[in-house]
Amino acid sequence: MSPSNRVLPLRLAEFRYPTEHPRHGAAGVVYGYVVRSPHGCLLFDTGIGPPHPEIDAYYAPRRVPLDRALRDQGLGLDDVTAVANSHLHFDHCGGNARFPGLPIYVQRREREAARAPNYTVREWVDFPGADYRVVEGDVEIGDGIRLLDTRGHTPGHQSLSVPTESGLTVLAGHAIFSAAEYRGRAVPESSTDEDRRSAERLRALDPARVYFSHDDDVYDRAPSRGR
Ligand SMILES: [Zn+2]
Ligand SMILES: [Zn+2]
Repeated sequence: MSPSNRVLPLRLAEFRYPTEHPRHGAAGVVYGYVVRSPHGCLLFDTGIGPPHPEIDAYYAPRRVPLDRALRDQGLGLDDVTAVANSHLHFDHCGGNARFPGLPIYVQRREREAARAPNYTVREWVDFPGADYRVVEGDVEIGDGIRLLDTRGHTPGHQSLSVPTESGLTVLAGHAIFSAAEYRGRAVPESSTDEDRRSAERLRALDPARVYFSHDDDVYDRAPSRGR
């Protein structure tokens, strides 16, 4: 355990859900997270990439550049030592190309799924110097930080669990859409068997805190009163 791990949220974009989307018209947010550990800074998800005609027309995103988001947390691009993607949809991997030569952890199933047409913005995933570390299932990547197989939203979605001084923190990514959904107070965005299984495995960890990719709200477990 490395209780000196810290999780720093980066609010990377706001956007509007397009006409075809079930959340049509609603505003959305995109988060990435820095996990500071004794051995470096892992960036979990990299937001929406550079200007892109279709994505910009469709989602009207207002991006916060990665370097500015990092600077607000007292960090620079150079402080990032590794990247992990919850999955490879455009709003989670758009900034990967800012990190040539750094290890980028992704599930094998996700890497394969992302080769399908229209899955993502191909050049945001495959860029010169990209160093994907393809993993399979649950893997510890140092300082007690674990990648967790939470397939469902996509075939190779992964979440992250981080031991911290105040208990276990989970970065759910897009495996559970919101804090309200985590608490069972909102209808799940999707509830295939895989979605349900992944959501249940995150809840079973009984984390002290859970962050989400697309929610400003954070889940905090009520402090236990002890005995
Ligand atoms: Zn997605
Ligand atoms: Zn997403």
